Amino acid sequence: MEKKYDVVIIGGGPAGYSAALYCTRAGLSTLVLEMLSAGGQMATTTQVENYPGFNEGIDGFDLAEKMLAGAERFGAVSEFAEVTALHLAENSKRIVTSDGEVLARAVILATGAVPKKLGLPGEDDLVGRGVAYCATCDGMYFKGKTVAVAGGGNSAAEDAKTLSHICKKVYLIHRRDTLRAEKAYLDPLENADNLEFIWNTQIDELLTDGKLTGLALTDRVTGTHRSLSCDGLFVAIGRDPNTALVKNQVELDAQGYIVADETTRTSVPGVFAAGDVRTKPLRQIVTAAADGAVASKYVQEFLQTH
Ligand SMILES: Cc1cc2nc3c(=O)[nH]c(=O)nc-3n(C[C@H](O)[C@H](O)[C@H](O)COP(=O)(O)OP(=O)(O)OC[C@H]3O[C@@H](n4cnc5c(N)ncnc54)[C@H](O)[C@@H]3O)c2cc1C
Repeated sequence: MEKKYDVVIIGGGPAGYSAALYCTRAGLSTLVLEMLSAGGQMATTTQVENYPGFNEGIDGFDLAEKMLAGAERFGAVSEFAEVTALHLAENSKRIVTSDGEVLARAVILATGAVPKKLGLPGEDDLVGRGVAYCATCDGMYFKGKTVAVAGGGNSAAEDAKTLSHICKKVYLIHRRDTLRAEKAYLDPLENADNLEFIWNTQIDELLTDGKLTGLALTDRVTGTHRSLSCDGLFVAIGRDPNTALVKNQVELDAQGYIVADETTRTSVPGVFAAGDVRTKPLRQIVTAAADGAVASKYVQEFLQTH
């Protein structure tokens, strides 16, 4: 017979392991299903500087290990398997994994989101050596330096604004001649005198001597090629939420994020969404961890009546 848990958490990033800690401490039998290793996106960064309590920063992988150990100390169980299908409508929710099936009285979706990449040669190798995907996370590494932001939507505008307060010079490079960003995001950019727009331009190549030194650019209107020296490139062309599993089962917004407010409740009773995967204004480790804690409160409330 399949094993049944009070709560099954899908995704072992900061949202998942925070939820697991709070759920087990509340006496719920708790399983975390993670398809790679603990930590999610957080485990891919070597220096987390903005998670409270670590005054000298901490390696993301080490923080992940601590989160996992913290939840397991109270009895949370981790299984490293991919969830391949979900049946969420029934009272007893069925979770199909690469290793078999489990049942749950409640499910917390904590599958995260991944930043979109430009897909240029060498991009992966330059992450942490000039290429970054989050100005809030990595902006301070470029204090007083020259950076470029690639993108044209709200997150590119937001990143450019953040970086304009930290960096000497910010170029905002966009493939078109206007930004898609909403007015509220655009207005602050007009007042930033260290920000320069580079319109109708695509990035062809990342120039490097081991770390990023600049960008090879092409003007899409005139066809002119040129290079731009910079110390950093922030890629802000959007994120892909990991929600393929729940498409047509829970409500998603236009970008594919799970619609859930601060309660983390989704459109399906007994199904909660925590961390980067849900609609929210700031996707960070601290907000993912906060969501996990909140989700446990509403899971408990749900289980009292179901
Ligand atoms: C390079 C980089 C640097 C960053 N630096 C910082 C920083 O310094 N400070 C900061 O606050 N934030 C930082 N962030 C953002 C931060 O890492 C995220 O906001 C945070 O990890 C989100 O946590 P999460 O638990 O919601 O999702 P994630 O961390 O994305 O974790 C989701 C987990 O779900 C798993 N999963 C997905 N689908 C399935 C499935 N079908 N079956 C099983 N498992 C599944 C994934 O493997 C993953 O482990 C950074 C992000 C990146 C990419």
